[in-house]
Amino acid sequence: MTSPYPLGLRLAGRRVVVVGGGAVATRRVPALLDAGADVLLVAPEISPALQAHADADRLRWIPRRFHPDDLDDAWLVHVAIDDPDAAAAVSAAAAQRRIFCVRADDREAATAWTPAVTRHGPVTVAVLGGGDPRRAMTVRDAIRTLLRERKGTLLTPAVEQGTPVNTPTGAPGRVALVGAGPGDPELVTVRGWRLLTEADVVVADRLVPGLLLDELRTGVELVDASKIPYGPARTQEEINRILVDRALAGAFVVRLKGGDPYVFGRGGEELLACAAAGVPVTVVPGVTSSIAAPAAAGIPVTHRAVAHEFTVVSGHVAPDSAASLVRWDALAALRGTLVILMGLKNLPAITATLLRHGRPADTPAAVVQEATTGAQRTLRSTLGEVAGDVAAAGVRPPAVVVVGDVVGVLPSL
Ligand code: SAH
Repeated sequence: MTSPYPLGLRLAGRRVVVVGGGAVATRRVPALLDAGADVLLVAPEISPALQAHADADRLRWIPRRFHPDDLDDAWLVHVAIDDPDAAAAVSAAAAQRRIFCVRADDREAATAWTPAVTRHGPVTVAVLGGGDPRRAMTVRDAIRTLLRERKGTLLTPAVEQGTPVNTPTGAPGRVALVGAGPGDPELVTVRGWRLLTEADVVVADRLVPGLLLDELRTGVELVDASKIPYGPARTQEEINRILVDRALAGAFVVRLKGGDPYVFGRGGEELLACAAAGVPVTVVPGVTSSIAAPAAAGIPVTHRAVAHEFTVVSGHVAPDSAASLVRWDALAALRGTLVILMGLKNLPAITATLLRHGRPADTPAAVVQEATTGAQRTLRSTLGEVAGDVAAAGVRPPAVVVVGDVVGVLPSL
């Protein structure tokens, strides 16, 4: 058997015809759209997912069986139908027009094969298994695992070129504000994790999952933001200064923050500081503890016929403080779910305020401490009792307080 000749097709704006609207087409189409292809879908019936692409004008659907003229202007055709005669007819029309034809039903009849693919930022690895798609997937999976385990070192240009990390190259640096998720290191996003493995400098918060830092490549400068002295205001200034200085010296700086960078994370201030210094910034959202902590305790923040809203509020300022920006009276009037972050210290005042403004004392409440970590602990109570129960049980930060009927809606895990 002759060897296939691998290519990376640049399909942006180029017509690709997909014949068939079932499971195979549904799997193939997203990568074509991602490549910017002008997808023409020919099939009498299509799956709901393909219908959604058609409805959103991401592709054009011709609702009928294939006709050879459909291949006019096409650069590539995917045959994703089971009927061998109909598939052969597409193949013949494609061959006549010298258009490469991928056949899901018959790889011998195909003039092009689709590889198993894994993507890591700018790097795409495509594997062909010599005619055996399962072998291709197995090898692809092994490569994917290897690339992940090598923590991206294989993918980092500076390392590839033999440049030691942290050496200013003269090229401008940049900053990524990355949400690390609530605690479990597996709850970082794929992009966040990739950027972390590419970083020259990592500035991490106290709430960042330690295991993520364990995975950094050697030579990375790790700045523990929680160890920076001074008061809160000075500390933030100091963090901003570190981000800007390192980036201006050419480093790629990842600012790793617990949960999501923009949920009580001061990410906006850091972005502004970088922007003022002309440092480019990327923001990678994270899984916020405000949703993940309740979920980890078996509490959905919304539930059909129970709660149609959830409100996330910071409890770090006491309700009666002049500095409070929260309308606790208005929150007390809501029926939905209330999620309170940084609320332990002020919990007695917060619950008293909610009760005073009319939220019923028997409203279910729960407190989730160190959610998604091995130390996770959940306390279930009511709005009337929760502050006392928290004190009695010695619940410590970080903890999320959830108030609302959703607390009892699922059986305890
Ligand atoms: N940006 C973060 C929140 C920062 S404020 C996010 O999106 O999750 C810090 C507060 O978040 C803590 O006081 C606590 O209320 C909450 N928190 C963060 N991680 C937590 C965890 N693992 N378990 C419970 N609460 C957590």
